[in-house]
Amino acid sequence: MIREDNPFRQLEEVVRHFRIPVDQGMLFSRCLTCNALLEAIDPEEAKGAVPDHIYHSHQAFSRCPICRKVYWAGTHYGHMTRMVERLQKEAS
Ligand SMILES: [Zn+2]
Repeated sequence: MIREDNPFRQLEEVVRHFRIPVDQGMLFSRCLTCNALLEAIDPEEAKGAVPDHIYHSHQAFSRCPICRKVYWAGTHYGHMTRMVERLQKEAS
């Protein structure tokens, strides 16, 4: 049973309880909708699939082979990376 109220603390509690290894290399590797492994795509393939300002401001994109959703390292990526780093620090 999860005891914490704060979502970050809940995640920390689950990771600690089940001793789930946090592999930085596997972060952001799956589609949030399908859970399929994302595939790196050429930036040209992202043109038209992402907003223009995203296309022009990012160099790396990946795509879900099932639902075709395109991903990039946006602000969410930075927030999640910092959260995982905090989680790893607190777990050690
Ligand atoms: Zn998908």
